[in-house]
Amino acid sequence: MIITLSNMSISSANVQTTFFAPEPDQRLHAAYHEAAHAVVAYYFGWWVNHECVEIDERQYCGLRRYTSDNTEQAQVCVNLAGWRAEMRLNPVRATARSEFDLIDSLCDARWDPEEDDDDIDTFRRLLQEHPHATDEDLFALYRFYGAMTDEILSRPNVWASIERVAHALLQHGKLGHEEVIDLLDDGVAGGAFRV
Ligand SMILES: [Zn+2]
Repeated sequence: MIITLSNMSISSANVQTTFFAPEPDQRLHAAYHEAAHAVVAYYFGWWVNHECVEIDERQYCGLRRYTSDNTEQAQVCVNLAGWRAEMRLNPVRATARSEFDLIDSLCDARWDPEEDDDDIDTFRRLLQEHPHATDEDLFALYRFYGAMTDEILSRPNVWASIERVAHALLQHGKLGHEEVIDLLDDGVAGGAFRV
């Protein structure tokens, strides 16, 4: 991927999950979760920033994108990719968010600036883009983008790339842009903009 910085502004995004003890199964899930944030970010033309993607000291994926690529669709799919990759990895351990979970996340997005996770961040973006939407509209949008994220994750080149990045994370704990991009299948980086 060629990154041209001239005449374009750049914004940052961070997707972070809750801290937990790195037991083997949890570490595997953390690796798929963070790998999915990273790979879907590349799919939308974003990239891993200097903070890297990591799974041990913290579960974290630091991202940058051009402002023009900071679309609602890209941000929400990148946010949702982490948990939905865990659901795809092991649907018994990682289940779909309940209606109660969504209500809770929407309340936090509206009223509690201290709280932050992938779902709360998703609802903050949806509230920003659709300030007059009803709660039901916002839940429908969440589910719509959830299905879209599942479709992206199901693409063979995307899932193969996530598996490769996840296994590299299990081996090394932390990866930067150059390492991640070398692990992507052809057609994944910027794939959302290719016919
Ligand atoms: Zn996450």
